[in-house]
Amino acid sequence: MKYVIIGNSYAGLSCVDAIRRFDKTGEITIISDEPYKAYARPLISYYLEGKTTDETIWYKDDNYYEKNDARTMFGKTVSSVDTASKNVVLDDGSIVKYDKLFIGTGGVPFVPPLEGFNPASPMMGTFTKLNDAKKMEAASKVAKNKEAIVIGGGLIGLKASEGLRALGMHVTIVELLPRVLGLALDEISGQITAKRLNKNGIDTVTNDTVIKINLDGTGNPESVTLKSGRELIADIVVVGVGVRPNVAFLEGSGIKVDRGIIVDKTMMTSVEDIYAGGDVVVTYDVINKRPNIIAIVPLACEQGRIAGANMAGVYREYPGGMGLNSVEIYGLPIITIGLTNPNDPSQSVFTYQEGETIYRKLVYSGEILVGAILLGNIDGAGILSAIIRQGAKCLSYKDEFLKGNIFSFVIDNEFEIYNINEGYAIRGDFKDLPEFSRTNWR
Ligand SMILES: Cc1cc2nc3c(=O)[nH]c(=O)nc-3n(C[C@H](O)[C@H](O)[C@H](O)COP(=O)(O)OP(=O)(O)OC[C@H]3O[C@@H](n4cnc5c(N)ncnc54)[C@H](O)[C@@H]3O)c2cc1C
Repeated sequence: MKYVIIGNSYAGLSCVDAIRRFDKTGEITIISDEPYKAYARPLISYYLEGKTTDETIWYKDDNYYEKNDARTMFGKTVSSVDTASKNVVLDDGSIVKYDKLFIGTGGVPFVPPLEGFNPASPMMGTFTKLNDAKKMEAASKVAKNKEAIVIGGGLIGLKASEGLRALGMHVTIVELLPRVLGLALDEISGQITAKRLNKNGIDTVTNDTVIKINLDGTGNPESVTLKSGRELIADIVVVGVGVRPNVAFLEGSGIKVDRGIIVDKTMMTSVEDIYAGGDVVVTYDVINKRPNIIAIVPLACEQGRIAGANMAGVYREYPGGMGLNSVEIYGLPIITIGLTNPNDPSQSVFTYQEGETIYRKLVYSGEILVGAILLGNIDGAGILSAIIRQGAKCLSYKDEFLKGNIFSFVIDNEFEIYNINEGYAIRGDFKDLPEFSRTNWR
């Protein structure tokens, strides 16, 4: 059996792991257009901060590929897939044959129309690859005024800003929405986060956007003009407004795409023997109850694993996933799960605030918890995400969930949540979508 994996990252390598679990002898070929072995993509900003290096950013063992008997083709770009003859075509014209193919090509940065933006400039770019981080590191060394503009205050924009700040740049984030992490956070948590950024040398401009990058005589940025008319000095401009599924090379292949690759529960695409997973696919969103693109590491890994098992002949189904962000901004931990900004008036919201930095919010649909924001105090995040994913009824426990101080664990389907301060446990069983029971444990 010849397995070909396009993409050398979370989805692709989780697929390899699962194939090797069930098929010890099939031929595996991994193709990636990046020249590196697999690295932890979320850590490219840590690379700028010096918290990870060229030696430590890899997320698999040194001998991973040998151990899994996987042939690697790094620095090679797939330009098309011929599904009739089962060939992957590379941009140098060469061909790789497959019996089963996995597509884990992730996302490509989205760049809105922006006058003056030229990714070939050494002082401008996007921020999704290790090479982008290396480019920004070099740019910061020659930046005359030490001024960086980051367009987009989502996860990628925030991480790029922290990285640039650590390189000695003064950073301004320009965000179209009224707050940073605008889709995941609400007004209060957005304000707390912005304050933490501001305190650490990162300015935030919201409800505004960059409409033009003004260039110097060498084609590099000098300043940016905002929609509001303001002009800000800029040596470096980073566009970090998010990613779109990387599907352009599939045009004409017959593989169905609707924003991302469409897959069934086994992660198979519309073409037999071709599977996909990770940021490149559209899958079932258990909270919004519709197909959605949820570009996060844990889902990329889960989808890759499910695909790999099915490719090796062991039936597995993907149950669907939900949005979950976990990030720390200058010591401020932030976790958002599921639906955090409800606009349906039948959904209820409960919040708890303590001091200047602790904020917890729960969103319920009837008795069912469907979303949470945990900021400053992320106690119980694991159990809350499990409860949200399972759709368990738990409205009567909102107060203990809100105030934190909970310690929880899940074994198989059964879970227990301990409230350390008040001395009781909540027990439940996910199999039966429980009415939880509360008992004293001291
Ligand atoms: C700065 C940043 C911070 C992030 N922080 C977090 C975080 O804190 N938590 C979290 O859960 N997620 C985070 N993410 C998102 C996370 O990195 C992605 O969800 C995850 O990497 C998706 O994995 P993937 O395997 O689907 O695709 P990717 O990691 O994007 O990998 C795609 C692979 O495909 C290869 N490829 C693409 N096109 C081709 C082609 N035509 N030919 C050959 N090879 C190709 C690429 O080289 C790469 O190896 C962050 C992302 C970024 C950019």
